[in-house]
Amino acid sequence: MASQTPKSHSFQVFRDVPPLRQLRQQLLRSDRTVGLVPTMGALHEGHLSLIRQAAAENTDVFVSIYVNPTQFGVNEDLESYPRTWDSDIEKIEKLNAELASHGQGNGVKGSSTTPGRVTAILAPTSKVMYPTLPPTSEIHGYGSFVTITPLATKLEGASRPVFFRGVATVCMKLFNIVTPDRVYFGQKDVQQTVIIRRMVQDFHLGTEVKIGTTVREHDGLAMSSRNVYLGDRRRAVGLVLYSALKAAENAFESGKVSRADILGAANEVAQKVLAAQKALSPSERALFEVDYISLADPDDLTELEVVDRTRGAILSGAVKMLPLEESSPEENRGLGDGKVPVRLIDNLIFKPKV
Ligand code: AMP
Repeated sequence: MASQTPKSHSFQVFRDVPPLRQLRQQLLRSDRTVGLVPTMGALHEGHLSLIRQAAAENTDVFVSIYVNPTQFGVNEDLESYPRTWDSDIEKIEKLNAELASHGQGNGVKGSSTTPGRVTAILAPTSKVMYPTLPPTSEIHGYGSFVTITPLATKLEGASRPVFFRGVATVCMKLFNIVTPDRVYFGQKDVQQTVIIRRMVQDFHLGTEVKIGTTVREHDGLAMSSRNVYLGDRRRAVGLVLYSALKAAENAFESGKVSRADILGAANEVAQKVLAAQKALSPSERALFEVDYISLADPDDLTELEVVDRTRGAILSGAVKMLPLEESSPEENRGLGDGKVPVRLIDNLIFKPKV
């Protein structure tokens, strides 16, 4: 990773807190606004769409790129998580050029043309983010943590017990470092959005939480930094989650409101696809396990028996794509040769109707 910003960049790269705080104070004095987009790098269109939204609503966008160890479980993929610094920087540079060509570029708050571009990238070391005790993923490990319960124990939290403790902790640190006017999160990680909103409310953090819609591939697969591990075979079968959620959404839109009817439609799709895969030979198939398909309240994530149309609901799911059992070198097996299990998550929101 570059330790200094090459002069040619249109943004500054910060590895430590004090110089970033200096910039933040300058911006505050000049009445400019900061939108923060927290990421773990390996940027794709999902991240870029959040940055675009932040640029449309703020004069300055800060993007953080930090693979946060405390949100990875002890047996999870921290070491192998994709790290693509050079191409991330290139993508942000290109996006800044695009924003400039649209007549944007750091105008002043309240002007008629919506201003904004990326002016800072925060890429801290772990020593900066965890200045005293080293980051731990142990559930009973020592350290200063933010826990948001019971929200963090549900859904993703049920299979990843330290995940949201890590997410809430690193976001609290980032919010304290940047003091952003607005923070931007993707709907793709819907439980994360609910937890961040709760954290901002409960801790009286002076920032506005904005949610960007999920960006998808042409066939509907939600973009994710981890999709590079899928390879062609698992990529095709991995669409099962989106198809199952869409079937449930169709059931809801056709007038069904009970859990049995809505989730029944999703489970039927998942079971069909799994049966079809099981009927194939190990060299042709891609097996998966459904971790959960949930129909939950939008604010507290409690499971719903019946959807109240005036409140709406969050329909979400997680599927684990298992390693390929047999494969040939000719097929595109993705990063890690098809051996890395890939957890896919996705969701659809049933908006409240008045
Ligand atoms: P990550 O780098 O995966 O931690 O994601 C950083 C931010 O990008 C989070 O707020 C994610 O919800 C958001 N994000 C990731 N994938 C997508 C997507 N496909 N569409 C919209 N936002 C996304």
